[in-house]
Amino acid sequence: MRKMTPDEVEFLRLLVGPLYCFTGDDISEDYCHDELAQIKAHPDCVLEPGSTSEIAQIMQYAYQKEIPVTVRGSGTGLCGGSVAVSGGILLSTARLNKVLEIDEGNLVARVQPGVILLNFQEIVEKMGLLYAPDPGEKSATIGGNVMTNAGGMRAIKYGVTRDHILGMEVVLADGEIINLGGKIGKNSSGYSLLDLFIGSEGTLGIVTEITVKLLPLPKKTATLLVPFPSLNQTIKAVPEILKGRIVPNAVEFMEKEIIEAAEKYLGKPFPDKSAPAYLLLRFDGNSKDELEKVYDIAARICLDLGALDVYVADTLDRQQLIWDARGAFLEALKAMSEMDEVDIVVPRTKISCLVNFTQELRHKYQVRIVSFGHAGDGNVHIYILRDNLSAERWQQILPEIMQKLYVKGHELSGQVSGEHGIGFAKKEYLWQSLGQTQMRLQQAIKEVFDPKGLLNPGKVVS
Ligand SMILES: Cc1cc2nc3c(=O)[nH]c(=O)nc-3n(C[C@H](O)[C@H](O)[C@H](O)COP(=O)(O)OP(=O)(O)OC[C@H]3O[C@@H](n4cnc5c(N)ncnc54)[C@H](O)[C@@H]3O)c2cc1C
Repeated sequence: MRKMTPDEVEFLRLLVGPLYCFTGDDISEDYCHDELAQIKAHPDCVLEPGSTSEIAQIMQYAYQKEIPVTVRGSGTGLCGGSVAVSGGILLSTARLNKVLEIDEGNLVARVQPGVILLNFQEIVEKMGLLYAPDPGEKSATIGGNVMTNAGGMRAIKYGVTRDHILGMEVVLADGEIINLGGKIGKNSSGYSLLDLFIGSEGTLGIVTEITVKLLPLPKKTATLLVPFPSLNQTIKAVPEILKGRIVPNAVEFMEKEIIEAAEKYLGKPFPDKSAPAYLLLRFDGNSKDELEKVYDIAARICLDLGALDVYVADTLDRQQLIWDARGAFLEALKAMSEMDEVDIVVPRTKISCLVNFTQELRHKYQVRIVSFGHAGDGNVHIYILRDNLSAERWQQILPEIMQKLYVKGHELSGQVSGEHGIGFAKKEYLWQSLGQTQMRLQQAIKEVFDPKGLLNPGKVVS
């Protein structure tokens, strides 16, 4: 694509104000990649608009001049989604960071897209309310979460981001502003454009306001850390726990190797690391008695299935220590080695097949492959680590391993991404997984919303 002209940049600089327009070397390096870090591109200019109206005017101009626009929240994505691979404008939502309303009567909140997840969770929790989506990276924006349909730890009980979005304001490719859904508890009014926008990764429009669902905050939580003699036994326990008719709000699996990496990264000891693998379960409820009854059932099931022990963390401090370590897994791996990631989701009864397959690949290619993830919803995060491999060997085996993993995921009735999205990095695997007919339908949708192909070009279906 062509570079933007100095006149075009100048027009936009005047539109957003000189403090909020960056070009050339003034563009922070952070704006040239996301947390995947391998996909890098320098936009022609970065804009930090302060209102929906400014975004609408930017889009009107970009549409007229045919300038690509890539939206960026916090850039914590893991598939290059917010990287301006076709140049043009990188539009940051950093200044759109206000919680506009918390409506306790309707149990909803209205927020701007640049609100940081952690800040929002803290605000509502102080009011005795819960915003249930809980993706691991708390510095992400709500807008980024919505546009990737982020999942996270609590998905097994509360669902993913999509399940908590009631409405949104969107600026379309030509600058027109539309409102979808609203403060309503149900909606059967025509095709759900709201659902189409959720998870669209900035390829259909720019979300400028979001209405989210809130719930009463459970008063108590308890966490069980359950060591098992093998990873297979750990994972196989998950469907059995759910057959016990109890619903944890998080079920994670992890191996000793990743626990040790997190300990080293955080400089804090984990409560136990004597076993090869662990299941981490969290329950929420309104009283200690209620919680005890439920986690006793889970503990009994685990012990019957060969668990070596069951550690109960019921104070906030002890729980924090465990969940901080879980939250640091990805950063701990990144600190150790260059790597690439896979975010396949399979039916939860098939997780052990997928994880066993990663062990076969590890053996075959003599490369470290570490997996952990949301055992409760079948979403496995698999990390292939370069360690000391030569660049040549790495470039040779990485695509082979990726391809084999995605083929296996497909065979196991899985999907390419459970929560991180497609972005730039996983496009070819989406094609292989969905096939021609579904991709044709997806591209037709893109064409309707973005006929000039300006919104986040080169991503998902384009
Ligand atoms: C340590 C770590 C842990 C993580 N854990 C999880 C997890 O548990 N679950 C999970 O789902 N993800 C997880 N992620 C991935 C990441 O945090 C999520 O994808 C998150 O939703 C991205 O939000 P962001 O604000 O950083 O968006 P960005 O990365 O900036 O953007 C993501 C996509 O959304 C688009 N976008 C952003 N804002 C808008 C907008 N206003 N309008 C239109 N398009 C927009 C961008 O163009 C891009 O395509 C993790 C990442 C890290 C680094």
